Amino acid sequence: MSEPPKADCRTCRHFRAAPYEAKQEGCYLPSNMKAKQKNAFLDEQKIPGDHEAINRNGDCPDFVARAPKLSLLKRLFSLGA
Ligand code: SF4
Repeated sequence: MSEPPKADCRTCRHFRAAPYEAKQEGCYLPSNMKAKQKNAFLDEQKIPGDHEAINRNGDCPDFVARAPKLSLLKRLFSLGA
């Protein structure tokens, strides 16, 4: 029997990396966050969950794979260039 695929936080839709995606690196799934804010202007006060502790065994049930990146040509066409 084959092993189920491991959940990798870096390829999960709920993971944000510092410094470009978020101020603090971690899991931004609302149920895993330590501090949430509803308003976008308070984003800096959000405290993400500790993804390394939550996904210690690589079997996080909330893992959702990120959509694959589009090629440069597809991105240019979507901008209408
Ligand atoms: S802890 Fe789970 S939900 Fe959070 S980023 Fe990692 S895989 Fe995704």
